[in-house]
Amino acid sequence: MIPDPDRFAGCLVGQALGDALGFVVEGQSPQVCRSYVDLTVRGGRAELARRGTFPFGQYSDDTQLARELLRSYVDRGGFEPGDYALRIALLFAQQRVVGRGKATEDAAKRLAAGVPWTEAGTPAPAAGNGSAMRAGPVGLMFFDDAVALCRAAHDQGRITHADPRCSAGAVAVAGAVALAMQGRPVDPRRFLDYLATWAAARDAGFAADLRRLADWVVLAPEDAVTFISRAGLPPDHRDMWPGISPFVVGSVLWSLYAFLRHPDDYMAAVCTAIAVGGDVDTTAAMTGAIAGARVGLAGIPADLAAHLTDQGDWGRAELVDLARAAWHLKTEGVRP
Ligand SMILES: [Mg+2]
Repeated sequence: MIPDPDRFAGCLVGQALGDALGFVVEGQSPQVCRSYVDLTVRGGRAELARRGTFPFGQYSDDTQLARELLRSYVDRGGFEPGDYALRIALLFAQQRVVGRGKATEDAAKRLAAGVPWTEAGTPAPAAGNGSAMRAGPVGLMFFDDAVALCRAAHDQGRITHADPRCSAGAVAVAGAVALAMQGRPVDPRRFLDYLATWAAARDAGFAADLRRLADWVVLAPEDAVTFISRAGLPPDHRDMWPGISPFVVGSVLWSLYAFLRHPDDYMAAVCTAIAVGGDVDTTAAMTGAIAGARVGLAGIPADLAAHLTDQGDWGRAELVDLARAAWHLKTEGVRP
């Protein structure tokens, strides 16, 4: 079945808006993030929120890198990891990245120094969410081919992240976008079973946690977070992050939790992703990509999406055009 082009646009714009909404309170406590969701976002004042010199609507590295992945696909007429690697290196070299992650930045420097993309990834045990946060477009490119989807999610990820958990996280996000686009009623256990089956080839532990999430999805957020924030970590692990940290296992699980709680309500899903606190530009970006792929462009608040920008460039209209070009390439085999 060929998905509606509005689902492609919904995925990219949904990621960008989730990212922009979360970016305002990235790294903040659960209390600050919950208050931001309740008073600012739900209070109809999101457009007044800003972070530093950035006005509301600025999105960050998560969406910049997802956008470049889709641009590479359209420009090259297919997925070419070598071309995408060059674009990652260029974005960093030109200092255009907003809110950079260390593993990605280190890999970008290696790429710029001439290291091949197959060897540039930051080695384990670094396991941040940098390869998963940008994997949504892989679900658009390969929604009809699970083997190719898993391969491409891994390849785009290992350009910057070599830890197998990072590949498993990228597979889960790309797979979730592909499943969400099908438009069928969402059965969380069945949905997660598909993702776990695909992710198991990369990391069995992550796959087991994806299956466990089916039991956590029925819990309220304040209860679910105690399980999800510790998933994949040793029992004595401590870090300074409030809420959900940038660790790939917890942040991907939380993004899926937020979507599966509200699969047909984009803003409810994104607000759930943010209200927990922590690395919420990324959790909301991933949730936004998945929810946007399901509800389509029409299900994303147009008044908020109208503010999307990347430093004065690549706003909503350009993102929609890019997504439509990808849809034409995918479904008709032609570049516009
Ligand atoms: Mg970010």
